[in-house]
Amino acid sequence: MKCPHCSALLSASQASCMACGFSATAIRAYLGADWVRLERITDVAGRLNLRETRHLETVLDEFERRFPQCFMAAYIGVLPDTLTLPDLGFWLINHGAFQTHQITRRNDFAIVMLVDPLRQQAAITLGYALEQALPEPILQEILKKLRRPLRRGQVAEAIESACHRVDQFLRNIGHREHRQPDSLPASVGDASDLGLHSLRPSQPRSLTQPGTGRLADKP
Ligand SMILES: [Zn+2]
Repeated sequence: MKCPHCSALLSASQASCMACGFSATAIRAYLGADWVRLERITDVAGRLNLRETRHLETVLDEFERRFPQCFMAAYIGVLPDTLTLPDLGFWLINHGAFQTHQITRRNDFAIVMLVDPLRQQAAITLGYALEQALPEPILQEILKKLRRPLRRGQVAEAIESACHRVDQFLRNIGHREHRQPDSLPASVGDASDLGLHSLRPSQPRSLTQPGTGRLADKP
């Protein structure tokens, strides 16, 4: 996992961050060491009305359908001065039992969005498996786009917008990976869906036109 203060990598057994001194033990001492049961949308601050909550549920459902391993959860709460949103996000990834539709979704594939409506701030904490897919600059860019709705008190809009942007970014990665120049066109037979990709000998570059995925005519 990443350190919630400086984004340096922390191993599961590491009690504190070597780079900045952040203490996982202190967070645990403050918030507890037990697992807590959480809804996918936890609105402790009471900022969402029923219509907004239902709409966000469908947005999160849609996200889970598109990315079957992942889930997104939202936490809306007014935090004390002693706790930051990234601190809480770090703890939730390690101690939150989120009520997703499938029990198989693990927190490694969680995207937890935290909003403090009073501070007008948001944070996104990722499970370990997603840290590579959504690098820090992308997350910062997504969060920057939320400043305006948060200033206006539009919490539901901010969460929906973040979800769409994450969705869009992950789909773009999928498309880029699908368009690898050495992948075979469908007419020749595409084995990538069978999970045999790495066993297949890679095609010589000269046979394919980069970007089109089509076989080039032999000279
Ligand atoms: Zn750190």
